[in-house]
Amino acid sequence: MSESVTVRVPAKVNVFLGVGEREFNGYHDLATIFQAVSIYDEVTVTRSTEMALTVTGSYADVVPTDDTNLAWKAAELVAQACGERAAVHIEISKNIPVAGGMAGGSADAAAALLACDELWNAHIPRDQLDALAAQLGADVPFMLHGGCALGLGRGDLLSPIMTRGNFHWVFAMSTGGLSTADVFARIDELRLDDDQEIDVAVPEELMFALAQGDAKALARHMHNDLQRAAVDLKPELAEVLSYGRQSGALAAIVSGSGPTCAFLAGSESSAIDLVVALKSSGLVRDAVHAHGPVHGARVVHQ
Ligand code: ATP
Repeated sequence: MSESVTVRVPAKVNVFLGVGEREFNGYHDLATIFQAVSIYDEVTVTRSTEMALTVTGSYADVVPTDDTNLAWKAAELVAQACGERAAVHIEISKNIPVAGGMAGGSADAAAALLACDELWNAHIPRDQLDALAAQLGADVPFMLHGGCALGLGRGDLLSPIMTRGNFHWVFAMSTGGLSTADVFARIDELRLDDDQEIDVAVPEELMFALAQGDAKALARHMHNDLQRAAVDLKPELAEVLSYGRQSGALAAIVSGSGPTCAFLAGSESSAIDLVVALKSSGLVRDAVHAHGPVHGARVVHQ
């Protein structure tokens, strides 16, 4: 019986994010295309006498270490589902930007679900694990699966999407995060002055570009309805996006609810040039090259 299990889990970018009107329950209907990208957190769970959680890495100081951490909640859900006592030490090695629109908390939750299932030999069926994931948050089911997927509803009704090859991305991290709830609230306010009808459909051309592995065509159809709100709350993002475009990016969008900016590059070498340009611009906290799609949460050590 293993004493500890480590799961590696990627970040995500929303290649397309269509946001419907706010509904009575406060939620918005989404039509989104997720792509898992090669920025990884690692989550290790170890048998212990009680629950404990520690975080290391670049963003350790801003991640909660109590029962509000999504990985902690995930461990408790698995314990409940398989009749174990919730007593594990969770160690998160954090690389995914926090509150950056890259689903870092959801990624850790997916990793903890899988790690605890493995540690306790629970063998929870995949559809039940998906249901537990959806209970933890709308992005969590995708972080279990990875790859590329269409997400409808709150983003949790997933259908895998065919892609060819690798896309090269650059992610530029900002100083300070944006709260997802604040960004959704801001888009609702901004839309009060709009007279356009809201259309959340994913363009067919975008699906085709993914299937063909055609970065230039993908760049033409990438879109994020939340971008306007994120830029409104953090106006300096407009400068970051336009600097990236001028420095060779095929497309530049805010990732999810931001403030991380995602740039699609035409090749690995142009991605590396873009990282150098952004890092020396003084406009961002950091910039990294990543590729996608990559697999979702996976056990790497037990
Ligand atoms: P999304 O893209 O899903 O909207 P995000 O990437 O913008 O999310 P997260 O990094 O998931 O945001 O963090 C949002 C908040 O969640 C943080 O400010 C933090 O307080 C809380 N949180 C809970 N668990 C975690 C975790 N394991 N890692 C990071 N933040 C967490």
